[in-house]
Amino acid sequence: MERNFILLGTGAGPGLPSFFCDCVACQEARNNPRLSRTRSGAFVGDENKKILIDASPDLRSQLIREKISEIDCMFLTHWHYDHFGGLGEIEYFVKLKRRRPILAYLPPSAVQEFEDAFPNLADVLEVKPWEFERQYHLGGFRLTPLPANHGIETAGFLVESELTRIAYFPDTAGLPEATGRNVYEVDWLICDATFHGENWFPHSHMSIEQAIDLGRSTQAQKTVLTHLAIHYSQPVTESQLTEKVARFGNVIVAYDGMRIKF
Ligand SMILES: [Zn+2]
Ligand SMILES: [Zn+2]
Ligand SMILES: [Zn+2]
Repeated sequence: MERNFILLGTGAGPGLPSFFCDCVACQEARNNPRLSRTRSGAFVGDENKKILIDASPDLRSQLIREKISEIDCMFLTHWHYDHFGGLGEIEYFVKLKRRRPILAYLPPSAVQEFEDAFPNLADVLEVKPWEFERQYHLGGFRLTPLPANHGIETAGFLVESELTRIAYFPDTAGLPEATGRNVYEVDWLICDATFHGENWFPHSHMSIEQAIDLGRSTQAQKTVLTHLAIHYSQPVTESQLTEKVARFGNVIVAYDGMRIKF
């Protein structure tokens, strides 16, 4: 297995389509499931190390789709349902196949919340708090949690090999100054682009335009828009969105299953 960064899901909290929504974007995704978006998460792996970033409520279908059958370790960006709701999916893998707990790095402030919410996973996950700006060496690559702006304690992850730097910030409103310096000139900035049109939560998320601006200010080689709601505040179809970002040569609209070799 070559080393890949895989976007397991690229949708915001409601997913696309949303079961309760009938906007043009949801209609389009219902008619063409290839355009649907599961909740956001990622997988980083090679022959030796297989790391899960976040556990979306869609985790089971994501792992099946990407033919991922092993996980060595997990990192969570933050304690919001769309990023931890799939933790329970790990139970049977650990109990029936792996037979020893998985090391799970959580935001320090989320450790107690995990213990309160998932007492049944006490012998499934060995939970540890991650530390901001500490480099975790994982086989041939390293991962560094960096502070994001999201209302609660939230990290984005800088994932680096010898050749490539990837910054993954699915939930953030801009970046704290120090984080901006740490991700300056990354090869890939994969970031929050939740809103199309008005940004209802300007202190927690970005709009598509703001995400593109962040890519420009950090001088990212490529900016990948993820955590897309697509229906808020103005619903947008895939072709409209692709056309809109096409004029920025280095901006890509993420899709479920997108892979970056690094
Ligand atoms: Zn919709
Ligand atoms: Zn969030
Ligand atoms: Zn989220």
